[in-house]
Amino acid sequence: MPVWDALAAESSVPAAAARTVTLPDGTRMPALGQGCWHLGQGRHPAQVEEEALRTGLSLGMTLLDTSGNYGSGRSEQFLSRVLASERGRIFLVSKVEGDEVAGDGIARACAASLKRLGTDYLDLYLLHWPIASAQFPHVVESFEQLRAAKKIRAWGVSNFNVQQMEDLLRVPNGQRCATNQVPYSLNNRRNERDLLPWCREHKMPIMAYSPLGGDHHLVVGDATLKRLGAAHGCSAAAVALAWTMRNGNVCAIPESGAPEHTKENAAALTVSLTPEDLKTLDGAFPA
Ligand code: NAP
Repeated sequence: MPVWDALAAESSVPAAAARTVTLPDGTRMPALGQGCWHLGQGRHPAQVEEEALRTGLSLGMTLLDTSGNYGSGRSEQFLSRVLASERGRIFLVSKVEGDEVAGDGIARACAASLKRLGTDYLDLYLLHWPIASAQFPHVVESFEQLRAAKKIRAWGVSNFNVQQMEDLLRVPNGQRCATNQVPYSLNNRRNERDLLPWCREHKMPIMAYSPLGGDHHLVVGDATLKRLGAAHGCSAAAVALAWTMRNGNVCAIPESGAPEHTKENAAALTVSLTPEDLKTLDGAFPA
């Protein structure tokens, strides 16, 4: 059994049944969300993408993940169409870039994101990519000021390795970090080696980005996944997503601008993979 699964087996959270993950401060965050990197930028017609988002929301994918730099703000602008009527039930995540953090840069970036999104708070604000650890105290202080001003409810990081997480937690208030958003999918399991066990030990969920493998390495055509999907009455994509969420402290954020795909992805919330399924997937996608 891979180390990550062995650790998770000790967890009291029933694997596939978890629809939320718990942040260190006790806040519940949806276990399945919708990535929004390419939305509002013409990949699909805007109406179709809006329908995809609304479909996902209605099926329980109530976390939206965006960034101030996705499409130079166009992703956030696009989301304002849905947020206008649905803000209350959305867990909204956005990000700030490393080259924006100096001075009051985080506050300014956050204000610009809130304006584009048409809302007055984010549920979670992430530092998109690691920066020099000497800057961590300033970043944490800036995030904490935004939290005190109720512009953000929580903050976290993205693409941090274990060493960077250790450095962050040593900074005053660094332990308020809510999550780390990193790549995690059947065909990219490298974070199982150290980061996922570290986060579990620190009771910090991770957010799995590119959970279907990302645009260039999509796993949805894989024969094993299709076979398991047929056995569970769902798509290969739903099996792949159920796998990423199997241990109760991973939130997956697949992106789709196609309503039929969003429907397939939402089915992951009800797929319960058996130990035999997990063994089969370990064989097809070795840790
Ligand atoms: P992904 O979600 O693994 O894959 C997205 C691709 O899968 C799209 O081409 C989508 O096309 C397709 N797809 C979705 N559902 C499908 C289904 N049921 N069947 C077949 N194809 C399907 O990868 P990602 O877009 O790289 O990552 C997801 C989100 O993670 C992003 O939107 C972003 O929010 C976040 N992210 C964060 C970082 C970071 O550095 N923090 C980096 C990358 C991504 P259709 O639109 O046609 O469905």
